[in-house]
Amino acid sequence: MENKLLPSYIKKENGELWLTEDERENLKISYRIKEIIYSEKSPFQHVMILDSYDFGRMLVLDGVVQTTSIDGHIYNEMISHVPLSLHPSPKKVLIIGGGDCGAAREVTKYAEVEEIHLVEIDELVVRACKEHLPEVSGNLSDPRVQYIYKDGVQFIKDHVNTYDVIIIDSSDPIGPAQVLFEYDFYKSVHRALKDDGLMVCQSQSPIFHMNVLKQTYANIRQLFPHVHVYTATVPTYPGGLWSFTIGAKIPVSFERLETFDKEAKYVNKEVLKHCFSLPQFMKDQLI
Ligand code: SAM
Repeated sequence: MENKLLPSYIKKENGELWLTEDERENLKISYRIKEIIYSEKSPFQHVMILDSYDFGRMLVLDGVVQTTSIDGHIYNEMISHVPLSLHPSPKKVLIIGGGDCGAAREVTKYAEVEEIHLVEIDELVVRACKEHLPEVSGNLSDPRVQYIYKDGVQFIKDHVNTYDVIIIDSSDPIGPAQVLFEYDFYKSVHRALKDDGLMVCQSQSPIFHMNVLKQTYANIRQLFPHVHVYTATVPTYPGGLWSFTIGAKIPVSFERLETFDKEAKYVNKEVLKHCFSLPQFMKDQLI
């Protein structure tokens, strides 16, 4: 790709290619890139797969790194195995967003799950990841996974009392994903869950986006009687420490986590047991 055709967040300097995430006012993060593997504009965003020096292949949407072959499994295992292990009998699972297919791939490890609906607004993300990011997508071909290319906000409105587990695997709250952080959306999620259902969402960095985490926690708390926050360290995301928030209609049994028996790279029984132990600064602001 000629320099003049590169998007503003990719620059060629002294023969080296650099991606700089520059959507924040006071923080820029740069990655040295080996090669641009894929670059297409969809009606929603600019979709790129880049090969980087330190993180391997990366999915980049509008210049923001979403997942990488080096640490994508940490996020995808944590957003999937925690809710799936907490639910006593997950049969019907909905994933909103998640176009890299990494979360769906983890959900397929549960034999008791009968249907996985992946509702992604942008078909191009799924196509790009299946073809060029197999370390994350796993070339997912499980027949239980149904791909639905729709806006998650519209899709969820048409479903009542349908799902056991809903995973909201969204990008940052800018662009098409902004609505996925709003109260009305969580209200629809609550309606779409069965009476013993539970949801999880990624609720951003406790270091840099405490306002988003607090608002998400407050929104979910208004709807669900049982709310639990957990964390994982994902090097790709700013600050490393990342948060997830669970909303459950009935009390969850943490003992269930001790029976975890899936093959995984990051998650194990100890990780599941301790991920709900929050640092003091998070407890002070949330509980
Ligand atoms: N793990 C990543 C992270 O935390 O940055 C995000 C995973 S995934 C790539 C996020 C996906 O959400 C993107 O592919 C994006 O197209 C999709 N998305 C954004 N807004 C959406 C919406 N309103 N409905 C459905 N999918 C949406």
